[in-house]
Amino acid sequence: MKKAVTVRFPAPLPAEIPCPICEGNKCNVCNKSGKIQVTVDAKVPIQRHLIIQYIGEHMNDVAFELSKHYGLVPDVETIEMFEIEEKTYELVKISSIGGVVWITNRVDELESPRYFKTYAEVLKMKKGITE
Ligand SMILES: [Zn+2]
Repeated sequence: MKKAVTVRFPAPLPAEIPCPICEGNKCNVCNKSGKIQVTVDAKVPIQRHLIIQYIGEHMNDVAFELSKHYGLVPDVETIEMFEIEEKTYELVKISSIGGVVWITNRVDELESPRYFKTYAEVLKMKKGITE
């Protein structure tokens, strides 16, 4: 199974939260304290469909913010559709002042997108070579 793409969920740390297992009623997980010490940022899987939906519904705002803060609006383009072992992928090219990034999205099933910094890596992936 592929590793999920995650984002850091910022929280003031360290933090003490009510034990999510026993909800403060004291169990073995929380050493009968009813509380859990959180010392690392929570990482949550990217809710890709929500991001896509948000961008779709706020395209003008997103483009404006990108222009305002970064001076550019990246050019996003679907280059092609291709298949590997009966799995269908979309190859997306994102171009900006900083360079080009390639993303493959599996379209026939839900799968984390893969990111490539060079087209050579994309070609390897298309030939079914996994690093
Ligand atoms: Zn507990």
